[in-house]
Amino acid sequence: MRTTAAVLHHVGQPLELTELELRDPGPGQVQVRIRATGVCASDLHILDGRLPKPLPVVPGHEAAGEVVAVGPGVDDLAIGAQVVLSILPRCLACDACRAGRTNLCSWGGELAATGTLDGQLTGWHLDDGSSVHHFNGVSSFATEVLVPRSGAVEVDPAVPAAVAALLGCAVSTGVGAVRNAAQVRPGQTVAVIGCGGVGLNVVQGARMAGASRIVAVDVDDDKLALARRLGATDTVDARGDAVRTTVTALVDGGVDHAFDAIGRPEALGDAFAVTAPGGTAVAVGLYATDAQVTLPAFPLVGERRLVGTYLGGVDPHVDIPRLAADHLGGRLRLSDLVVERPFDEVNDALDELRAGRVLARQVLTVD
Ligand SMILES: [Zn+2]
Ligand SMILES: [Zn+2]
Repeated sequence: MRTTAAVLHHVGQPLELTELELRDPGPGQVQVRIRATGVCASDLHILDGRLPKPLPVVPGHEAAGEVVAVGPGVDDLAIGAQVVLSILPRCLACDACRAGRTNLCSWGGELAATGTLDGQLTGWHLDDGSSVHHFNGVSSFATEVLVPRSGAVEVDPAVPAAVAALLGCAVSTGVGAVRNAAQVRPGQTVAVIGCGGVGLNVVQGARMAGASRIVAVDVDDDKLALARRLGATDTVDARGDAVRTTVTALVDGGVDHAFDAIGRPEALGDAFAVTAPGGTAVAVGLYATDAQVTLPAFPLVGERRLVGTYLGGVDPHVDIPRLAADHLGGRLRLSDLVVERPFDEVNDALDELRAGRVLARQVLTVD
């Protein structure tokens, strides 16, 4: 069948809305009609060459849709079910999977590196027969996609698709960083550097974890105001205030947990600098593959930790349904984060994200 996809042929160029021929789902695969797909900084990283991928490729990795067909061997997903797509397909057989760290699955890593659905084949091609690659088994900037069964997580249809989409990346990453990487406990203090789609969910995760102080840092007044509505107790304007001294003055001696939700070495340096002795700095954002960070060594004597996290360390099949329940229960406020726009505005949405003009998360919707 035919699908319309936004294809990146060359780094630095706009995506081209192109019709592709989509294969029937193979063994263990699921065909999904995309309803909503978020626009994340990681997609920009691909477009701008900071995250090299096999080309041509269809970006998009934060999406919700409807199951329209399943391949042989898929007997636990009904046609019509609402699913959130996940960039963490897993094999449940490799060392990482057996250790319970399915987000580090080596098979999932192979799909990401090869841009295929099974290590060898892609699910679609151009009319001249040439393959188009997938982005981590999702490639949701398209109207219909094939994904591995383990990359589709069924969620309650009561969650609107535009909200459900966010569960796949921004919410998993932000809340997961709080719950899994930092393990914030009630009464602890938190700083969040960067209040975009991910950072605002770090703020919400910290509020749900019972943090006593949540210091949000950004350069944008509207983002800081939204951070306050979502649970930040203090805000720091990084345009006028020196971030490190302001945060450590607000929370005397530094915070228990500081998060770089931007993905830049300077922001990670700020996060590390504002941790108290015994504190944890968490690298939440996705860094350019050649980014380097230099940190002062002496503060490590204070038993500070610097930890990385991939998609918040979540197990999508456990955590995404939980996050959906958090939304339906009113604990996680996601409706305020969604700015909907039609799918064919994908390049405009990416341009506005690049320019930093976006409050919260743009979500492209497909009729
Ligand atoms: Zn993302
Ligand atoms: Zn595995």
